[in-house]
Amino acid sequence: MKSQDIRAKFLDFYKSKTHQIVPSAPMVMKNDPTLMFINSGMAPFKEYFLGNGTPKSNRIADTQKCLRVSGKHNDLEEVGYDTYHHTMFEMLGNWSFGDYFKKEAITWAWELLTEVYGIDKDILYVTVFEGSDEDGLKLDQEAYDLWKEIVPEDRILMGNKKDNFWEMGSQGPCGPCSEIHVDIRSDEEKAKIPGADLVNMDHPHVVEIWNLVFMQYNRKADKSLEKLSANHVDTGMGFERLCMVLQNVKSNYDTDVFTPIIREIEAITNAKYGKDEKADIAIRVIADHVRAVSFSIADGQLPSNNTAGYVIRRILRRAIRYGFTFLNKKEPFIYRLVDVLNEKMGKAFPELKEQKQLIQNVIKEEENSFLRTLDQGLVLLDRVIEDATGKEVSGAKVFELKDTYGFPEDLTELILRERDLSYNKKEFEKLLEDQKGKGREATAIQADDWVVLLEDEDEEFVGYDTLETDVKLTRYRKIETKKEGIQYQLVFNITPFYPEGGGQVGDKGYLEVPNGDVVYILDTKKENNLIIHIAKNLPKHVHETLRAVVDKKQRERTAANHTATHLLHQALREILGTHVEQKGSAVHSKYLRFDFSHFSKLTTEELRDIENFVNARIEGKLPLEEKRNRPVAAAMADGAMALFGEKYGDTVRSIRFGKSIELCGGTHVENTGDIWHFKIKSEGAVAAGIRRIEAITSDATKEFYFENNRAYYEIKDVLNNPKDAVKAVNDLKDDNAKLRKQIEILLKDKAKNLKGDLKSQLEEINGVNFLATKIDLDQNGIKNLAFELGGEVNNLFLFFATANENKVMLTCYISKELVAERGYDAGKVVRELGKLIHGGGGGQPFFATAGGKNPGGIPKAIERVKEYVK
Ligand code: ATP
Ligand code: MG
Repeated sequence: MKSQDIRAKFLDFYKSKTHQIVPSAPMVMKNDPTLMFINSGMAPFKEYFLGNGTPKSNRIADTQKCLRVSGKHNDLEEVGYDTYHHTMFEMLGNWSFGDYFKKEAITWAWELLTEVYGIDKDILYVTVFEGSDEDGLKLDQEAYDLWKEIVPEDRILMGNKKDNFWEMGSQGPCGPCSEIHVDIRSDEEKAKIPGADLVNMDHPHVVEIWNLVFMQYNRKADKSLEKLSANHVDTGMGFERLCMVLQNVKSNYDTDVFTPIIREIEAITNAKYGKDEKADIAIRVIADHVRAVSFSIADGQLPSNNTAGYVIRRILRRAIRYGFTFLNKKEPFIYRLVDVLNEKMGKAFPELKEQKQLIQNVIKEEENSFLRTLDQGLVLLDRVIEDATGKEVSGAKVFELKDTYGFPEDLTELILRERDLSYNKKEFEKLLEDQKGKGREATAIQADDWVVLLEDEDEEFVGYDTLETDVKLTRYRKIETKKEGIQYQLVFNITPFYPEGGGQVGDKGYLEVPNGDVVYILDTKKENNLIIHIAKNLPKHVHETLRAVVDKKQRERTAANHTATHLLHQALREILGTHVEQKGSAVHSKYLRFDFSHFSKLTTEELRDIENFVNARIEGKLPLEEKRNRPVAAAMADGAMALFGEKYGDTVRSIRFGKSIELCGGTHVENTGDIWHFKIKSEGAVAAGIRRIEAITSDATKEFYFENNRAYYEIKDVLNNPKDAVKAVNDLKDDNAKLRKQIEILLKDKAKNLKGDLKSQLEEINGVNFLATKIDLDQNGIKNLAFELGGEVNNLFLFFATANENKVMLTCYISKELVAERGYDAGKVVRELGKLIHGGGGGQPFFATAGGKNPGGIPKAIERVKEYVK
């Protein structure tokens, strides 16, 4: 059965059981402080399990793109080494939200596997939660009895808390689960060891394919469990593993999901899959990672240096490195695999197809830059090896290579091993742990349980229409972070506060408490569909009606920037072309930032045209036309623009100003005239094929012009108020150039005299004409001087030190004949003596320099350098 058919059969089956089939949510989470990537099928539905929203159906099924590379689920290091864990994979799942429970979940799963897919019952095992003393839970008898009706008892195995009790996080909904495992070993192997002994033992051919989770408890902050008011079902089946079973192969990589990519890797690298274990691992790593990275980029997450972007960059770098080391690919090639990937998956996932070009460009650029890093790292590593005294290199050096230069430790290890060296792993790991610990501590949140004051399902947002209103506190909780200390999260029955989202910052403001107190709202965020207001303290009278007031000035400025962002988007597509796709935006009160796909730097004319385009629409005073609760199809028919990687509900809000129509949840001005003026402040590249514009509007532009004007008059003042300031500056520049020329001539003269002087100071030691001294010349002057002396005197060894405002330079020149005959090395001299001036450097054996910042080390350096010729 082809993979496409396997996927379709799953969805058809649950459709026949009256499930609503929904598309996969984007894999990259936006605006969720608790999760970077979707790591299981249930993640997009978290809010329903928490009771913060109502699903459109209480039976849903889908295939969900998942990524397990960080946090609770991290399979990255397994990938490539085994044949059944991926970074990105599809999870087929069916859900019941307070509807059916164990009976249906179990019997349907069995029916699908054995009757629809026709899997031989004899290769299946199931597990049941055995209970846990620590939680006071007994065996999941209900599940056991249900399985007993369809599976022989010797195939029902007991599972412990680790494998068979599923928790969403340290707090929240949880419950026992039943897993289904397959044993695809040969009869011969089965005769030797029974399959039951290998379940959950990391055997590549006895693997879990499906996990049925029965959510029936809630884990509280004090770790105790309480029963949920309604029971839910959450199941997840690995699509690639299912394909492995149904296609009768022994590895996910031998299914039609991966073989086309592997054939392409073989064609490009001339490697043959299945010949050599190391090359095989590399091929699997690359085949897997190209999917993860391509889908992330398609969902709007580009490789970068922070958080989610960095995770993606690391995945891609892992692939590049395996190609570099084990397949000997020293030039970019992974981007070339995107074509086959698209042929295979572009139909089921159109976001891939439509952004293929962008994905290729981004990957190629990343490959180029990391290959350069690898080259540099190799040079640095050579130096580390050269300086090594014993058989072991320090862990700190290896850590520095990784941390500062992105040079991976396993590659370092490999190269060291080739030279018969190793490194101090303990020291390295300690440094790595320390660094991780620092990051964790800074972000770790200690959250108390919610204190519920009022049961209220929907926290209505009224902030499109009003900026202040009376509210009731429905729940609150205390949180503590290292950075912010103790804070309170407040939830109201209704709120005018806009929660951070769609690139727009959250509202700030305050609460008026009846006793006259004011509680400041520092930020507003959305978490699992709850609008959370963050305050430093709790209002004294939590049961009373409070007046919630949004900071109007900040909101108005933010709204002006948000509307300007839409007009900018329109301008870019109009002026540059419709290939422009929004790739991220940040709408603050003081400025806006807009990232978009485009392949070249914008010209001055283009930037001017864009500004003019936006300003024309501001001057045109276009009114806001807002439509709420519009069916997606109707909004799209109006010509609204939807963004890739954004999750839309069935109904949407559309925002129109003239011909600009976007699906958007943000806040906007009533009329474009309110923006007053739009000014681009910068344009630049963020990644290959992605440009960034930063701009300002309204009050900020006034300040901007005011500041520029002030600077202009200040400059004029400094220049003694010339009529033409530009001419005055140019005259100054000309004068400056003339003076520089004159100084250069004078310095040359000085050097000439100096040369004579120095020559007379040369001392003969062991047949070497030696001189070490402090002199007062610039770097270029010293170099010229050294080479001129070298041309006139044989067997020369010069060592010069200069100090200039705490910048210290050491220069060493050694005649080539000395280098050849006696093995002197100027690079080694400056590297070693460089330590005395708290610096370092290098160069070639006949000429090298080092820079540092400790002038106090100069006398010692001059004294010590003699030792090299003695
Ligand atoms: P395993 O023990 O094999 O790592 P798991 O217990 O982590 O699996 P779940 O979190 O229960 O798995 O996920 C549900 C299903 O998703 C699994 O039964 C499996 O088929 C699939 N799955 C989990 N992790 C991966 C992965 N990294 N790559 C491919 N499929 C996976
Ligand atoms: Mg796992």
